[in-house]
Amino acid sequence: MSIAEIVSQRVQQAFPDENKRTLKAATVIVNVGRLIPPSYVYPLPPLCTSEERLHFISFILKKETGIDYSVDEVLVAHNVLMGSENVQQQLNFDFNIGTIQHYLDEYKLEQPRSTFARSFSPLLLFPHRIVCNICDAQLKTIFQSYGQVVYCTKVQSCLLYKADCHVCRRSYRVSSVYLMDQKQTLVTAESQMSDFIHFSGSIVFSKEILISFSSQLIDDYATFEGFASATIKVFNRLHPNRTDHINADGLARNLEAVWLYYELTNFIFMTSKAKDIRFPYAMSEGRTRIKSQQSLRAIFIERNLNWIYHIFTTFWSNHENVFGSCKCGNCSKVMVIDGHQKPRRMVCRYDNVTSIMNAAELGPINKGCPYMPRRKNSENQELSGARNRLYELFYLDHPYYFCDYHQSKHAEELSLETKMSDNELQQYLGYLRELDRKESQCNVGRNDMDERFESKKRSMGFIASFLNCGIIIGFSDSVNHEGPRKITDHLLTMLKLGAKLPSLLVYDAACQLYKFWRYRFGTEHMQKTQFSQQLMEIY
Ligand SMILES: [Zn+2]
Ligand SMILES: [Zn+2]
Ligand SMILES: [Zn+2]
Repeated sequence: MSIAEIVSQRVQQAFPDENKRTLKAATVIVNVGRLIPPSYVYPLPPLCTSEERLHFISFILKKETGIDYSVDEVLVAHNVLMGSENVQQQLNFDFNIGTIQHYLDEYKLEQPRSTFARSFSPLLLFPHRIVCNICDAQLKTIFQSYGQVVYCTKVQSCLLYKADCHVCRRSYRVSSVYLMDQKQTLVTAESQMSDFIHFSGSIVFSKEILISFSSQLIDDYATFEGFASATIKVFNRLHPNRTDHINADGLARNLEAVWLYYELTNFIFMTSKAKDIRFPYAMSEGRTRIKSQQSLRAIFIERNLNWIYHIFTTFWSNHENVFGSCKCGNCSKVMVIDGHQKPRRMVCRYDNVTSIMNAAELGPINKGCPYMPRRKNSENQELSGARNRLYELFYLDHPYYFCDYHQSKHAEELSLETKMSDNELQQYLGYLRELDRKESQCNVGRNDMDERFESKKRSMGFIASFLNCGIIIGFSDSVNHEGPRKITDHLLTMLKLGAKLPSLLVYDAACQLYKFWRYRFGTEHMQKTQFSQQLMEIY
């Protein structure tokens, strides 16, 4: 008797009822029998019986074949099938991605010149949908590119697929839709559900590593660089022979771009009615500056900053209406403003940058330039030693103290310094600065004398407004010193962007703020508008 005949005979004996006799059921019983060994229930404890185990197997059979098997039928089939060595070998089938990868690695060693072995990967990432959501056409899935999926503890190569609708000019990808004519990436609530996030380039992020970074950022203040470098060290220790070429710098750059995209999308979907978002395609590129130009990502974020801040402040200041009152019992009753000086960063030294957001109430606010100063030794190789000495001799101010934009602007202004109109502007700005200084006298003590002579300028930290429920509803990065005008500016900005402010306010220099409002309200220093009027109703 051939092996096939033996197996077929056993299957017949195992399922006396012809209607319930399938090869599929027999295969399931053999594999499940191996994966859930009877020894688990015998001898006791555990406190379950072998009947319960058989019941679970019949539950699986129902799911897999759609046929109801009684516990007795399962027992008969189980005993008959497991009684034959041949049947067990023939019907046992255990194949998964891991097994294929294992054989692929072995095959690669044996067939080093096989293109298939070198380029194939069993991890196939398909588009998040293959039916066009405009014309409903069923689309063909085609190969897009090779990629590498980054997980928390490993890198795995993968093949990326896409589905193009040439009528609607849309290309459906793993976690986005590429709009061919606009060169934009469309992210929808559906595409955001994908387990793998990829927009461009060869690095694909698993959702686990993006979410892991978010948690590390919130509870551990992780930076992109720190997280990437730690992750690469994990890879190196777990897989000393790893063959991918991902390094810490590349990972940090890509993580920054993709993570920002990913969490910004989550944030927008959570806080607004938007169902999809369009980003410039190149937004996922790994660099913020390309050939010393701001990248499209930086431009996109800067252009949309007010809108993003608007949904942030509106959503959180109205959280009582959205989620109902917090458990604290006094939801959204009091607002606390606090300055944090820990997160101070390097900023450009150029000072004449003003905000006109609240010009109607406060006049121009001298904010200082928020950009990073130029970095040494990166893109600035052309600044030779001779030129540096020239700066030291004539300008005193070193070019590295300024951002790329103000680097040349500053030099221009120095040559214009004597012009009348410029002088007037300087005087006016000087006057405003003096006013800021006077109004914020209790903050003066905070400046170290050393700091005034420090060559690179640092920002003064971060102002946050939060509700008594502990929810931040507004924040601003203060490049220059904080004072009543700055705080007023911070509050007016929130009001104008749609925040709902409670009528009670706590602030460590509230007396000054109160004085400023009392004495300046209705004067040129704090014009009366519907927004400043709202502030006057706060205690
Ligand atoms: Zn279509
Ligand atoms: Zn609350
Ligand atoms: Zn600047």
